[in-house]
Amino acid sequence: MSKKVYLDYAATTYTRPEVLEEMLPYFTEQFGNPSSLYTFSEDTKKAILKARERIAKAINADKDEIYFTAGGSEADNWAIKGIVSALRNKGNHIITTAIEHHAVINTCKYLERNGCEVTYLPVDAEGFINIEDLKNAITDKTILVSIMFANNEVGTLQPIKEIGTFLREKKILFHTDAVQAVGHVPVDVKDMNIDLLSLAGHKFYGPKGVGALYIRKGIRIDNLIHGGGQERNKRASTENISGIVGLGKAIELATAELAEESKRVYDLREKLIDGILERIPYTKLNGPRGNKRLPGNTDFSFIGIEGETLLLDLDDEGIYGSTGSACASGSLDPSHVLLALGLNHETAHGSLRLTLGAKTTEDEIDYVLEVLPRIIKRRREMSPLWEQFLKEKGEN
Ligand SMILES: *Cc1c(COP(=O)(O)O)cnc(C)c1O
Repeated sequence: MSKKVYLDYAATTYTRPEVLEEMLPYFTEQFGNPSSLYTFSEDTKKAILKARERIAKAINADKDEIYFTAGGSEADNWAIKGIVSALRNKGNHIITTAIEHHAVINTCKYLERNGCEVTYLPVDAEGFINIEDLKNAITDKTILVSIMFANNEVGTLQPIKEIGTFLREKKILFHTDAVQAVGHVPVDVKDMNIDLLSLAGHKFYGPKGVGALYIRKGIRIDNLIHGGGQERNKRASTENISGIVGLGKAIELATAELAEESKRVYDLREKLIDGILERIPYTKLNGPRGNKRLPGNTDFSFIGIEGETLLLDLDDEGIYGSTGSACASGSLDPSHVLLALGLNHETAHGSLRLTLGAKTTEDEIDYVLEVLPRIIKRRREMSPLWEQFLKEKGEN
């Protein structure tokens, strides 16, 4: 029995066959440069337009508000650097949160070294910002607020509509990194008063290396990628046609299936959470429960356990999870997200993120529930941290 149980859908997904099928002709037959004038390129122009329309429809935007990028990180960089550059005469203050993806955090850190002031809002034990903190952080120099829609480690869904409505009244621009949200929970830029939104194909069964930035009509933003006149003079480089086509197809499928699929995944997630909390003592679920958590996200801390060791043990049993964000793995620093949630370094080190997706089955969850308690028990028996914990508890 060699099982392969992939539970890292938040890191990336496979590309759906229906998506790949629609992409393939744009590598081989319909390869014309959309900027060229001959009729040979008409197909590619049409394909890009169709993808733009599909993305716009999925988030309730207008097609002219969608700009293609080379993924989520570029969309985040562009939104933040582009606004800071365009509004530098108005102010230099950005507000974000302590739990953003590195694409946002490190962009903000870079800007801090270059004359910007950044406020990193704290979060509560479940990862939610407090809207009062946001209100108090605003100064007359605040030009942009960037708050992620859904957290990639612990799944927390922020009160985006409440934040957006407040900021629209204040006339302060609102960007949200919705890379984990799009295709998984309903996203409506009009209803939620969002000005800029980042998304990426490979988080909802599209290809990697392609994403989009939604920029609300009328917003002044400087370019990030300078060069030719593609994307209505806002983002240079010959269009990644096949990627763009795949992005459009994937978002259309994900949105059409969202209600049913998110319910299915949610139920499996609940089974996994309940099962782990029941079977493994001294375990903490990081992030909220219920529908303010991404349907497919689980994240646990096991006292006395070292996260990397746990991942290797799980790998031996054919279970593929992560210790948090893919970018942080390989480094020994505990996750900035878990620290912001108030975990101490030791507990943050013993964390495991299992994220569910389209191919996750009840059998796979049963398998994890059989294997994981056994691994934790064995590792704890060897762990000095665990021994110390028991002593402190007075159970030894
Ligand atoms: C994956 C991810 C990104 C980065 O997207 P890429 O396409 O890998 O550049 C940004 N933000 C969040 C929340 C993500 O989960």
